[in-house]
Amino acid sequence: MHSKNFLFFMIAGVILGFIVGGYLPGFALATSFIGELFLNGLKMVVLPLITVSIANSILNMKSLERFKRIGIKTFLYYTLTTSIAVGIGIITVILLKPGEGISLKTETPFQKEVNFSIHDLIVNLLPPNIFEALAEFNVLPIIVATILLSLAILSVEWKRDLQLHKLISELDIALLKLTEWIIKFAPIGIFSLIASKIASMGGAETIVPVLYSLGKYVLTVLIALLIHAFVVLPAVYYVFTTKNPYSYIGKVKEALLTAFATASSSATLPVTLKSVTAAGVKRTVAEFTLPLGATINMDGTALYEAVAVVFLAEAYGIDLSMGQYLIIFLTATLAAIGAAGIPEAGLVTMVLVLQSVGVPQEGVGLILAVDWFLDRCRTAVNVLGDTIGAAIVDRYSKLEA
Ligand code: ASP
Repeated sequence: MHSKNFLFFMIAGVILGFIVGGYLPGFALATSFIGELFLNGLKMVVLPLITVSIANSILNMKSLERFKRIGIKTFLYYTLTTSIAVGIGIITVILLKPGEGISLKTETPFQKEVNFSIHDLIVNLLPPNIFEALAEFNVLPIIVATILLSLAILSVEWKRDLQLHKLISELDIALLKLTEWIIKFAPIGIFSLIASKIASMGGAETIVPVLYSLGKYVLTVLIALLIHAFVVLPAVYYVFTTKNPYSYIGKVKEALLTAFATASSSATLPVTLKSVTAAGVKRTVAEFTLPLGATINMDGTALYEAVAVVFLAEAYGIDLSMGQYLIIFLTATLAAIGAAGIPEAGLVTMVLVLQSVGVPQEGVGLILAVDWFLDRCRTAVNVLGDTIGAAIVDRYSKLEA
């Protein structure tokens, strides 16, 4: 589907969702199964997608030696900046409290209000039973197991010529296709989720308060994204390169604008490559870091996922404990690493973050109303993070040379 048409349908879905939910609540509730199907589709694809995409990024390193030499540094940089982004998101949403004032209801009990302990978190990082972890959607142990298995494959593959890498990278392509198909249904899924949410909240009179809270939510995400893009990332750039970050950002602005226009880091990749090399980064470095960054380095997505989950928890009246914030911090970072660089991918992996702290997933219906816009903004920040990562790796490869 052409992206302009897609955007048109998304916005139409949102507007119709509000109107139908407000004025035809009976119809909205009767067709709520469409939204449920859409959510089921997202849930169906998310675990395979995230595990295969992380495995594929590790296997792309080709050998354990290479992984140790450049992979670890690059992964560390990505994880560091992504977790700072999540931290900024969490702090901003806690300070601004956009979810106060709306009260969402759910029939699903919050099973995950657990007595959290660091001991349990650490011990549970390794799943004693991988199938149980999969069936229960336990994200962290699944990802840890995926990383370990991928490293093991990497260490034996090149000696034995295993076919697993090829298999996994082909599976990755196929899963991406499947995700694209599901996302094509987003306009109608979004329509149904918004309509049934508004209808179940009481119809027309809830439209204004919901729009007001959504406005606060958008503002929160934007403020946090701006802080990350114009304060944190430039500071990181300056610390590692001692050059003026803003003049560099000016040089790569074409990539940032393309990211905003396409809402896809992967689709932006050719422009990112061109802008970054024109800004002075060596082609070899750009060709290694940017494709990797477009798939796993997503500061904007991580930040947005954290804000969205805390916002929804507030709206459902769930008091999050410190432990749950820590889980959001970890899962949002990992969910962003596992998100694909395509429009609305963050939405798919957000299911994981919601699940990890027991926030009802149907809450997604609410934030979907503004997601078509926030997706563009966070994608621009994702790409900015990639371009800065490329410049830093370039600087260090110069020093090593
Ligand atoms: N659209 C984003 C990207 O391509 C991913 C997301 O949905 O957050 O970078």
